Amino acid sequence: MVRNKKVNHIVLIILDDVRAEHLFKLISEGKLPNMKEIAGNGVSCSNCVTSYPAITFPCYGNIVTGSYSGYYPKEGSAVPMYHWLNRTDPPSTSKKSPFIRNYGERSQLLKVNKDIGKNVKTIFEQAPQGNILSSSCFLFRGAYFIAGKSVFDVEGIFKNIADAFEHPRNYFPNNEVPILSVGYVFQTDDIMHQKGFNHPEYIKLIIDCDKYLGSLMNFLKKKGYYDSTAIGLVSDHGNFKAKKVFNLEPFFQQKGLIPYTPEKGSGDFDCNFGSVGFFNFPGDTWQNHPSIQQMQKFKISGVRKIELNLFNTLWKIPGVKYMYYRDDDNKPEKGIIHIEYLEKESGEKKNGMIEYRGYGKDQQTKYTFEGNGFYHYSDNEKSANILDNRFHTLEEWLEATNHINFPIIIDQIPRYFKNPRSCDIIVSTLGQYNYNYEHGKTTGASPYSHDNGLRDSMIVPFIVGGSPEIPQMKLSYCKTTDMVPTLLNLLGIKPHSSVIGKSVI
Ligand SMILES: [Zn+2]
Repeated sequence: MVRNKKVNHIVLIILDDVRAEHLFKLISEGKLPNMKEIAGNGVSCSNCVTSYPAITFPCYGNIVTGSYSGYYPKEGSAVPMYHWLNRTDPPSTSKKSPFIRNYGERSQLLKVNKDIGKNVKTIFEQAPQGNILSSSCFLFRGAYFIAGKSVFDVEGIFKNIADAFEHPRNYFPNNEVPILSVGYVFQTDDIMHQKGFNHPEYIKLIIDCDKYLGSLMNFLKKKGYYDSTAIGLVSDHGNFKAKKVFNLEPFFQQKGLIPYTPEKGSGDFDCNFGSVGFFNFPGDTWQNHPSIQQMQKFKISGVRKIELNLFNTLWKIPGVKYMYYRDDDNKPEKGIIHIEYLEKESGEKKNGMIEYRGYGKDQQTKYTFEGNGFYHYSDNEKSANILDNRFHTLEEWLEATNHINFPIIIDQIPRYFKNPRSCDIIVSTLGQYNYNYEHGKTTGASPYSHDNGLRDSMIVPFIVGGSPEIPQMKLSYCKTTDMVPTLLNLLGIKPHSSVIGKSVI
């Protein structure tokens, strides 16, 4: 295939669960010489902002599509989160109650390929015609050969890519080397959750990834492909260590709240809760989202027949610092997300509001609040300037908040709540507690996780290098959805209209 551009091949490596701070520290210590080489000769950013919530889905899906969650019947990725209830707009009239999607279950994981919806396209679907390889990606829609259906070891994820260049016939129907290869290293996330980001095994695995990447780079150099190959490296989110772990099961029992079981269609609530809690409640039925009033006067289904104010109840969960919920009259193109928060200085409960209008790239949001506001944007000149009572685009929020905690969160919250599959109330302990709570059960006792809007979870590395055609640039900030349009740009291709990120070159 003849192209005008000198970059003819793309290799994208997604490392799950690696903070920018940690990766660039290892680079500066000389422990990742190969990543240092591609970052030093190409585009490098140690301040890349991922999606909120900082959880593998939406974050990894958003990297692969270059887009965000949204009102999925019309726009955006249909996957709001790692866990969701399949409620629709308008509500389904089916007698069957909505199922719980949980990508943590092996049998459900690959369903993401269908769940993600037709309004967005994966990088595999956006790439030019040719041989396209997925090495261990869970989200591989559009890849010709799916190498990741069986689980590879970490070295295999990288070797597989070299092997597809050496023996294309083993992977594809013709003997052409792949145009696009994406390797996804999920094992870094497993070790981080089990042992933590400071554990020697976690650090060793990142160093191993660098070695395997080095072998791949040497292979490409030896075979003469390196100068025409762009190598991208990114992570889906960072991580944190919670101060406390705590079993929430007794709290819900004490309140009389019974976990939802889709098979029976019964129960009062569904929740998954790391340091951020995502709560679903029934409205008229489990197919409907509840109104604010229904949540204020919620009739629990147990024998006690008590009426609960759910907002007040969720505020009693230890460590809760703020709460989000949607307004009753929200439309996909226009609406309000309510914020309740504890003001740091006074300890008093205050209110804030995010208003949104428009879809996708054109979405604009406005943030207003009582008191000092929860995010403390006013503490900093750059972020204070955007608190002007006006609507702003994602790019404007990124420019104003990339350097502080809660980067782009005002843009991200409405994108989440617009999705009919999103929950009804979000609460957050901001990493103080990690509850490990999923659908009625406490599933572990690890203090290590990721999900909140603080920098430790939200800031990831972004590197594009390899071919000498790629300019040498140090970016002061960017976002994870910029990766796909940047790589496509190097191939001389325009991204799909659903892509919200933009090429950084
Ligand atoms: Zn992840």
